[in-house]
Amino acid sequence: MSISYCLICKEQVDLQITWKSLIPGSETNTCDSCYQTLVKINMPTCPGCFRPQNNHDLCPDCQSWEKDTAWKGILERNVSVYEYNDAMKEILSTYKFRGDAALVAVFEKDFYISYKANFKKKSIDATIPIPLSPERLYERGFNQAKLLADFLPLLQLEVLERTHHEKQSKKSRHERLSSSNVFSITNRSIIEGKNILLIDDIYTTGTTLRHAAQRLKEVGAASVSSLTLIRS
Ligand SMILES: [Zn+2]
Ligand SMILES: [Zn+2]
Repeated sequence: MSISYCLICKEQVDLQITWKSLIPGSETNTCDSCYQTLVKINMPTCPGCFRPQNNHDLCPDCQSWEKDTAWKGILERNVSVYEYNDAMKEILSTYKFRGDAALVAVFEKDFYISYKANFKKKSIDATIPIPLSPERLYERGFNQAKLLADFLPLLQLEVLERTHHEKQSKKSRHERLSSSNVFSITNRSIIEGKNILLIDDIYTTGTTLRHAAQRLKEVGAASVSSLTLIRS
């Protein structure tokens, strides 16, 4: 039996033969205590953005997007897998900013399960990972959204380009809404009539995803939804 290490804390994982380890695809890549720090979002959530809340109504944020004629119906809905707690912040910073790409394997099973539970019935024609700008991709060495998209058994299209990068977090909501769209499309004709699932690591304000969705709708996408790892 090979020795296995937890991808999060790097401690050796105690490999016991349990019913779980006999199921194909359920290999342990985290220790139990690390895995338990990842909190999956439980219902009820906002039907628009998956924000955990006490009812099933569209949250005030989503209502204001839908009231704006420029953004109404641009993003059909977002689904997220995990809550953004302190443990997740730590894991995400290791993953993204310290370049630990191997960590993504921790999320594979839950990401796939969430896709199946929320999108299987509705046919999705293709996924599109939210791209990084070329300079950011060079810095980081990998696009975390693409690694997540690789977990799904769907055609993946890389037709979006990020024309320039701005630190969105430093702007107010109003500035974000009115800032120009950072995305452009490299292959317009293959989007027409397609149901697209955008993939990203985190849904914060929904601005990035809506900007990408706006470009896709402009070239004839039938619908654009998103699956994100975390709802902050
Ligand atoms: Zn661990
Ligand atoms: Zn919402």
